[in-house]
Amino acid sequence: MTTGIAAEDRASSDTATAPALSGRALGMLGPGGDDGWGVLYRARRLEAAGETVVNLAVGDHDIHTDPAILDAMDASARAGHLGYTSVAGILPLRQAVAARLSRGGVPIGPEAVQITTGGQGALFTAIMVALDPGQSCLLLDPFYASYEQTVRAASGEPIAVPTRAEDGFQPDVAAIAAALRPDTRAILINTPNNPTGVVYARERLEALGALCRRHGLWLISDEVYESQVFDGAHVSPRDLPGLAGHCLVVGSLSKSHAMTGARLGWLAGPEEAVARGGDLATAMVYGLPGFIQDAGLAALRDHAAVEQAIAARYRARRDAVMESLGNAGAVRAARPAAGMYVLLDIRATGLSGSAFAERLLEETRIAAMPGESFGRAAAGHLRVALVKPEAELSAAIATIRAFAERLA
Ligand code: PLP
Repeated sequence: MTTGIAAEDRASSDTATAPALSGRALGMLGPGGDDGWGVLYRARRLEAAGETVVNLAVGDHDIHTDPAILDAMDASARAGHLGYTSVAGILPLRQAVAARLSRGGVPIGPEAVQITTGGQGALFTAIMVALDPGQSCLLLDPFYASYEQTVRAASGEPIAVPTRAEDGFQPDVAAIAAALRPDTRAILINTPNNPTGVVYARERLEALGALCRRHGLWLISDEVYESQVFDGAHVSPRDLPGLAGHCLVVGSLSKSHAMTGARLGWLAGPEEAVARGGDLATAMVYGLPGFIQDAGLAALRDHAAVEQAIAARYRARRDAVMESLGNAGAVRAARPAAGMYVLLDIRATGLSGSAFAERLLEETRIAAMPGESFGRAAAGHLRVALVKPEAELSAAIATIRAFAERLA
C-alpha cells in the first residue's frame, strides 16, 4: 500500500533531523540543572509512591479557599461568565485592586492595574516591561526561588546582592549601589520577604528609592505577603514620596486569601508600563477566566475577614514554632515578622542546607527547602513553610531539632 510519503520522509528517526530547541532565554533557566525545588519534587515522588511525608517545602496552604469565595466563583460560572474577558482584567476587579493599593496614600486608578496569572505572572511581566534583552536586574539575596529564572526567562541577567543575617537581612543600600552596572535597569525586592520573614524598614526603602531615582531604575516590589505582617508594618515603596513613577508592584491573592490555585495576581505601576504588560498578556494568555476574577473580586470586596483570619492563623503558627524551637542548641531562628515561613539556621551541624534537607527527608520524611534554593545568603539554613496546624508543626520542629543535635 502506498502512503504518499516520500521515501526519505519515512527514514528512521535516527537519521531524521530533530528540530532545535531555542537556547537563548529558556535554555538558560535552570541554575546548574537543579531549579532549586529538588527537595519538593523528591517529597512529591515519595508521596506518589504511598509514603507519608510531612511536606513543609512549599508555601501552599493547608487552609482551603473560603466557601463564600467559592460560592462567588460558582455563581459567576453558572451565570455564564465563561467567555473571553478583557485582557487587562475585568474592570471591577482592577478597581478593587486599585482601591486596595490606594489605601497606602498614593491614589492609583484601575487603568494602572493589570490582572495577571498569579504573582508569578506579574513578576515575569514586570521584568519584561523593565528590561531589554541582556540588561541586568539586581536581586536581594536571599530571594524567592523563582526570581533568577524569571529574570533569565525574560532574557535578562540576574545579579544577586547579599543581605546579611547580622543586619537582619535588611537591604544593604551601599552594597546595592556598588553592584549597579551601566546595564542595570531594575531592582527586584520582596517585602515582607520570603524566605526570611523580614519586613523591610522604611528608611532602607527610602534610601533604595533615592538610588532608583538617581539612576533612573525600576523598583519592582513583590508584596504578595503584604497582609501577613505580625510585627511592625508593611511599607510599599510606591507610597514613599516621589517613588510611584519608579515602582512596579506585584500582588496576588494566593497567600492573602488562600487562593494559590486560582492563579490570580496583579501588576500595578505607571499606566504606560502596565499597558506594555497588557501587550504581553495578549501574546501569552489573552485574559483570565471571568469566574476566577469574580471570585477574586468577592475576596477583595466582601471578605476582608477571611484575609484577617488567614493572617491570624499564620501568626499563631509562627508563635508555636518559635516556642517549640526555644532557640537553643543546633537549630536557631530569628523570629519572622511576617509571612508563612521560619528560616532555621542549621550551620551548627556543619552541613549545608541542601545536605541537611536531603538527609532530613531521607531519614525523617520531613520535607523543607534548603536555604541554598533562595540564593547564597541563606546557605546553611532550612526554610520551613508553616502549612500545617500548630501541633504538627511543633512535632516537626522537635524532630528537626533532635536530628540536628545528632549531627552537631
Ligand atoms: N512572590 C513570592 C515572594 C512568593 O513567595 C510567591 C509564591 O510563593 C510568588 C511571588 C508567586 O505567587 P503566586 O502564587 O501568586 O504566583
